[in-house]
Amino acid sequence: MSSKIVVVGSCMIDFVSYASRLPTAGETIHGDKFVTNFGGKGANQCVAAAKLGADTTLVARVGNDIWGEKYIDNLDSAGVNTEFVLITPNSSSGIAQINVAESGENQIVIVAGANKQLSVSDIEDAKKSISSAEVLIMQLETPPETAIRAMELCTGISILNGAPALSTYDPKLLTLPTIFCINETEASIFTGLPVNNTGDAEKAAIDLVTKGCKSVLITLGEQGAVYHSGDCGCKVLKIESPKVKSLDTTGAGDAFIGALAYFIGAKKVSMEKAIRAACFVAADSVTKLGTQMSFPGPEILKKIDL
Ligand code: ATP
Repeated sequence: MSSKIVVVGSCMIDFVSYASRLPTAGETIHGDKFVTNFGGKGANQCVAAAKLGADTTLVARVGNDIWGEKYIDNLDSAGVNTEFVLITPNSSSGIAQINVAESGENQIVIVAGANKQLSVSDIEDAKKSISSAEVLIMQLETPPETAIRAMELCTGISILNGAPALSTYDPKLLTLPTIFCINETEASIFTGLPVNNTGDAEKAAIDLVTKGCKSVLITLGEQGAVYHSGDCGCKVLKIESPKVKSLDTTGAGDAFIGALAYFIGAKKVSMEKAIRAACFVAADSVTKLGTQMSFPGPEILKKIDL
């Protein structure tokens, strides 16, 4: 069974250099290894859902450079509909330059490039797909007004991943989505409360519902997730993630959201079952290296009890 999932968001390419240590300002050093990874929260979440078997469409912008073309090829091979992935004249693709030291310390420079050019008019051009989506997913790596317009057009379930968190924002970002989904750090920025454990996350979820969110989902790494359905007097649901041997947690949050959309849209299961299944998929992704490469395919569905 397929589901219609539309993602509005970012495409970034990570250039990762590994060296014994980080260079100081003005210094040039030799590194040991270099890799490029396809990333960006929008594309990651879309690929996570597509790899499970969902019918996905991405609304995004890449630059008119070699990386833009490569990114579209990557999405095509993951089975994502790229009709609305636009090549942007006079703009580079979104790039993250990452230096990683042996100690695990890193330095990152992000250039949003074409992602900044995603516009409300691009959203209007994709109106038919967005308004007929069963599940719509957005994040905040592209201009927030595009997420707001997409949510206004949505007639299905909308998931806004409030990442990266904003300290000032249009309150519609909280009130429009069906599900406002964030991690602990973002929950702390959006509420001003400390969020370090499930108890704190419960308080933050209640605070966000008071601020107008329809429902709130907070992910807590290996501690799983906390969900508030927004109903009056509702008990906050705490869902544990399976215990796994973690190798690389990059993109775990994106695997979680893409899988959540798949289970809500394609499998039409209850929110509790969808969150439990999304935790299972995200936990599996942390046992492998990389971002999109680590997201599991449909074989994982046999291991999930829906
Ligand atoms: P990232 O920014 O690395 O993509 P995030 O901070 O947005 O991640 P997390 O809360 O770290 O998201 O993780 C999302 C989900 O992934 C968790 O709710 C959990 O289900 C799963 N997960 C992450 N880390 C682990 C782990 N070490 N063990 C088991 N599950 C994990």
